[in-house]
Amino acid sequence: VSLPVVETFSPNDASQSTPLAQPLAPRSHRQHPTRLIDSFGRVIHDLRLSITDRCNFRCVYCMDPDVKFAPKDDLLTIDEHLAIARVAVRLGVTKLRITGGEPALHPGLLDLIAGLSSLNVQDVAITTNGSFLDAATARQWRDAGLTRVTLSLDSLRQDRFKAITRSGSSVTEVLAGIAAAREAGLDPVRVNAVIVRGFNEDELVDLARLARDLAIDVRLIEYMPLDSAHAWERNKVVTATEMLERISRVFPLEPIGRDTTSSPATVFRFADRQTINETERIDGGAHGEGRIGVIASVTRSFCSTCSRLRITADGKVRPCLFAHHEWDIRPLLRSGASHPDAIARFLQDAVYAKSAGHAIDSPEFRQPDRTMSAIGG
Ligand code: SAM
Ligand code: SF4
Repeated sequence: VSLPVVETFSPNDASQSTPLAQPLAPRSHRQHPTRLIDSFGRVIHDLRLSITDRCNFRCVYCMDPDVKFAPKDDLLTIDEHLAIARVAVRLGVTKLRITGGEPALHPGLLDLIAGLSSLNVQDVAITTNGSFLDAATARQWRDAGLTRVTLSLDSLRQDRFKAITRSGSSVTEVLAGIAAAREAGLDPVRVNAVIVRGFNEDELVDLARLARDLAIDVRLIEYMPLDSAHAWERNKVVTATEMLERISRVFPLEPIGRDTTSSPATVFRFADRQTINETERIDGGAHGEGRIGVIASVTRSFCSTCSRLRITADGKVRPCLFAHHEWDIRPLLRSGASHPDAIARFLQDAVYAKSAGHAIDSPEFRQPDRTMSAIGG
């Protein structure tokens, strides 16, 4: 498989280039009984649990207003998510992220956070639209053991925020959510913004200013073909190169690299702000200066260093966001035969089948039926 690279960030940014994964010998994952390792030798450290496909927003790049949800009985219970996570941690997963749909809608969220944080992991994080994140909620999440929070905020203009999210929420509410999360000591607090041409590319500098003003990481995400309306078009993608160029004209940026080798984001600091030290760079913690991260899933795949595995709200194991194949673990979980060893074998086999890459830019690319809201971003 050969993945075309159509964009570069900058001539001196060689850290962007990731060679394609190379195949291992057949079935060699069986030689690693305590690891989740795919047929290209990539090791899984990062598990994302989508705990609901429901949401109170209908973001234009994600959910159609008449999106269809899975029947409630099909959704994994909190105990089922915990059973998977427990085994995954035994198999080397060190980072857990709760996502959705909107995970804050789930009544069992606190129990899940508490259960996950009792496992021996580096991180228990959440991605949320921020509309339910008041001071009391942020403290409850922290007390239950949450370490990090990422909030989504695509526009700082109220009318546009409404047009993008098609929700009853507001920019003010999400900004208050950011403040509440920081006040509670959740660290780092990050902001995700999906940039879609014709919607918000003219706010890139304002989003960069937000990163500077609040001294947080703002992650700019290329629009991916995972929307439920299947309205994605190549010309609506604002490339990472364009995003960085637009911001650099006002706030010159310097590449830092990736937080970790498997991180999807390439991170930049503001050239006029003081140099951060190595520890800050690696742990991705609070920086006192703000940073910009770009997630260039479309124009610059990071498949060869991918260390992620996803569980959908209805119990499908997805080794890749863009996969057309997924493995249904729900029957096993509900069969009465879900011994941890059986779950471990299931996860190992699913991971082994992870593809080399997604090839969004190839003419053969076909959008998966699953949407971001169903898979969990
Ligand atoms: N509802 C929560 C939220 O919005 O933060 C969590 C789930 S959402 C699916 C997770 C992330 O996926 C969000 O940051 C969202 O912006 C991003 N996302 C959704 N659809 C996307 C798309 N088509 N392309 C790129 N990112 C997308
Ligand atoms: Fe909901 Fe998040 Fe999708 Fe927006 S991006 S519709 S908030 S799941």
